[in-house]
Amino acid sequence: MSPAIQIRDFHHVVFFTGAGMSAESGVPTYRGKGGIWKHYDYERYACQPAFERDPVGVWEFHNYRRELVGRCQPNDGHRFVTACEQLVPHVTVVTQNIDGLHERAGSSTVHELHGSLWRSRCDTCSFRATEFDAPLTEIHCPNCRAFKRPDIVWFGDMLSADVIESAMSALRNCDLLVSIGTSAVVYPAAELPFVAKQSGAHLVEINPDDTPMSHVYDTCLRTTASDGLRELFGPI
Ligand code: NAD
Ligand code: ZN
Repeated sequence: MSPAIQIRDFHHVVFFTGAGMSAESGVPTYRGKGGIWKHYDYERYACQPAFERDPVGVWEFHNYRRELVGRCQPNDGHRFVTACEQLVPHVTVVTQNIDGLHERAGSSTVHELHGSLWRSRCDTCSFRATEFDAPLTEIHCPNCRAFKRPDIVWFGDMLSADVIESAMSALRNCDLLVSIGTSAVVYPAAELPFVAKQSGAHLVEINPDDTPMSHVYDTCLRTTASDGLRELFGPI
């Protein structure tokens, strides 16, 4: 079967990814089938009030996630996204995922809208660190001994203005947007594809299920991330 789109026809491709991108790597999604985080109440363990109330409990939850994601490997979909860099002048990944799998697959430009499981910061001083330990045993700031905080956008947190601006700039300048594995219900991330649409880009959605944003897309492929990318572009 000939591919639906010739990737070489495009100048700037943005891959906009959600938890479904990493499902084939074994990282559980948040919503949808299998979308559970062990027995934890996600909202209860992923917000600033919970951290202030029980920092050790919040770290226990995030260390569980570190261990789970640390055992997972990038899948063919992540590798496909990376390989596109050989075919088009500009490739940008805008992801809602915090798992770091795009970077591990070798993608060069990744804007992590919701932060990273592998980064932590101290809100008492300005300490920041990227550590891949799973679990992370030192949860105190080396400078001031306050509790470090996972550098993740939790429920109720603001997104980083710098990251949003970088993502918006890529979306304004792309001619192809491929959205993969996002339920499109978490704002403001969910509305970012509109920015690309308004700039005249071609929009493709890859997701086994319909989403509230499906009507915005020019092409919808109802399949998994890796199969969808293969179907869209053919072997690369
Ligand atoms: P979501 O869990 O709300 O939705 C996942 C979507 O992926 C669903 O629409 C589902 O139909 C689709 N999907 C399932 N399997 C798929 C596959 N194999 N291929 C393609 N699509 C598939 O995810 P979201 O929209 O990213 O929002 C959840 C929020 O929770 C995010 O903001 C994120 O920060 C966080 N989260 C991150 C991770 C991660 O880092 N991997 C995992 C879970 C949740
Ligand atoms: Zn500190």
